[in-house]
Amino acid sequence: MPWCETCERMVADDELTGTGACPTCEEQFAERRRVPWHFKLLVVATVGYLGWRAYQGIGWLVHHL
Ligand SMILES: [Zn+2]
Repeated sequence: MPWCETCERMVADDELTGTGACPTCEEQFAERRRVPWHFKLLVVATVGYLGWRAYQGIGWLVHHL
């Protein structure tokens, strides 16, 4: 659900106008569209990879100190 800064409220998806604008003030939410699923996947993959590298780094430190 997009947040309307003009009305200072959440606008339910089924309240949006046909063009995806706020029904009260007609503000367009086009540039605030939901995050696409492949971007979330990329974030999850990156966090998982960094977590794995950190785990490996800690293991390396433990063996080399
Ligand atoms: Zn509004």
